[in-house]
Amino acid sequence: MTLAVTRVLAPNPSAATLEGTNTWIVGEGPTIVIDPGPAIDEHLEEVARAAGRVAHVLVTHDHEDHAAGAVTFARLVGANVTAWRLPEAAKLRDGQGFAAGGVELIAMHTPGHSADHVVFSDAGSGALFTGDAVLGRGTSFIDAPDGDLAKYLASLRRMLEREPRTIYPGHGSVVLDAKAKLREYLDHRAERESQILAGLAAGDRTVDDLVERIYAEHPPDVQELAARSVTAHLLKLETEGRAAKAGPAAERTWTIVEPKACARCGRPVKGRARYCGSCSLALLQGDAAGSA
Ligand SMILES: [Zn+2]
Ligand SMILES: [Zn+2]
Repeated sequence: MTLAVTRVLAPNPSAATLEGTNTWIVGEGPTIVIDPGPAIDEHLEEVARAAGRVAHVLVTHDHEDHAAGAVTFARLVGANVTAWRLPEAAKLRDGQGFAAGGVELIAMHTPGHSADHVVFSDAGSGALFTGDAVLGRGTSFIDAPDGDLAKYLASLRRMLEREPRTIYPGHGSVVLDAKAKLREYLDHRAERESQILAGLAAGDRTVDDLVERIYAEHPPDVQELAARSVTAHLLKLETEGRAAKAGPAAERTWTIVEPKACARCGRPVKGRARYCGSCSLALLQGDAAGSA
């Protein structure tokens, strides 16, 4: 089934937004508008002209480049805004459906890029509107603490499970092989993580050390975003008990935590646990049996 989709590109290009924010208009008579974009009047007016009668205004996440114009736009076209986290918007739920103009978009909560991030899918055509969770090119930035890399990876896997066909990203061009792109994103993060572990093993101690090693060939304007991305990886490794930080924020250093051995069977244990998974279970069952 073909889906009517129109893109209006917002005039807000930058290192993080690529050519600018993509505002997507889905369906026909009435339409659904995803991510009205930044609060730039000319852009919102252009979207209103292209969208015609609007049934729903949806927002993937509350970052300024996607959401700042949402409430103004909704007023302009006389529709309601629905978002996971946005003042003046109706509260979005995971799995909520939005029907209009021959389409039904289903919302999926996909935290990671931000805690409130949502993507919208159309089962009929396999279209997936991914906001900043997946971009047309390059990678999505994870900014802790609102961004969370472990949650992000789980969200990418959930998107992959839906078997989408086409990705309509928040920035960059349409992606025609959605599943390949999602796998590429997962592989990229896995590769980045091994680079960070290798850097720490080689004696890198700070985020700057790691950025210098890993992003040496990238232009200087991505260095700050790169530092935030490296930090997101380090925080994930810390949560998993595989890296440890020391010192105040300004002089923070990082080191690898060697895997511990299970206190019962001696096999390697992930994180700070005292026993491996099967020993914890055995002990728990032993206790339950003992107390019965
Ligand atoms: Zn964003
Ligand atoms: Zn964005």
